[in-house]
Amino acid sequence: MESKLHSGFFHPVLRQIQESSTSISPSNLMYPVFIIYGENKLIAALKPLVAKGLSSILLFGVINSSLKDNTASVADTVKNPVLPAIQLLKKVYPDLLIVCDVCLCGYTDHGHCGILTKDGIIDNEASLKRIAEVALGYAKFGCHVVAPSDMMDGRVKAIKDILHGAGYGSTVSVLSYAAKFASKFYGPFRDAADSAPAFGDRRQYQLPPGSKGLALRAVSRDIEEGADMIMVKPGLAYLDIANEVKRKHSEYPLFMYQVSGEYAMLIHASKAGVFSLKEAALESLTSMRRAGVDVIITYFVPSLLLEWL
Ligand SMILES: [Zn+2]
Repeated sequence: MESKLHSGFFHPVLRQIQESSTSISPSNLMYPVFIIYGENKLIAALKPLVAKGLSSILLFGVINSSLKDNTASVADTVKNPVLPAIQLLKKVYPDLLIVCDVCLCGYTDHGHCGILTKDGIIDNEASLKRIAEVALGYAKFGCHVVAPSDMMDGRVKAIKDILHGAGYGSTVSVLSYAAKFASKFYGPFRDAADSAPAFGDRRQYQLPPGSKGLALRAVSRDIEEGADMIMVKPGLAYLDIANEVKRKHSEYPLFMYQVSGEYAMLIHASKAGVFSLKEAALESLTSMRRAGVDVIITYFVPSLLLEWL
């Protein structure tokens, strides 16, 4: 009987050729890092990773709750540990692409991603103004890319406008968390970043998990407003969205965030003997590349760079 398929991948090199667009190299990875106020472990922790080719990092700030208020007033001051960290990183690792998550939730006492009205609902206009100011703060300290994750309507335009006005229009990019779903998979991150909402949830501004048209509209909106790059978040449960976004907007680099709950599932399942962590994690990351993702933001970066790749 004539071989239809097996003849195409019987040899290891042939298998590699069949998977060529899904390879994972350091340039396909971005490492999410929490900068904790008063701690100084960042430079040493990154050293072996940079030596192995780490090319970009995504910074989140963690501050003491006593510094939080209802307008996130600390977020664009040096009390936000991300700001001095940018300057230090640029000095020590001048080739590293520095991306800063832009949101208010880690800096507000209510833990929501925007400014609230006195009735406790999101004030979109006031939120846009404050989020743009915070983005400008990162730009002023030398960050290369600002990544708004708040999901307010119109934030990409507000950020682009303030960056242009301040002379950063061509030297700071905007990576939009364009399709960010209201997901249960964010749990471990919220504990680590101490950013869970004090009341209510984020369904006013994050996308319903089942929505596809809405997600595609959110991406189109952010592109129209000037986003340079697009992100889909979380990862594994949203591969169809990533694939649709890549087909529709193939001219834009596509990012996907493999979030903390996905990381935790893989770690816990491997500890329980369900599978080998390395193979399962690589399969999961490969599926994102296959869906059309250019850069994966993942907590597995140290394992990947130091052991697996
Ligand atoms: Zn937020």
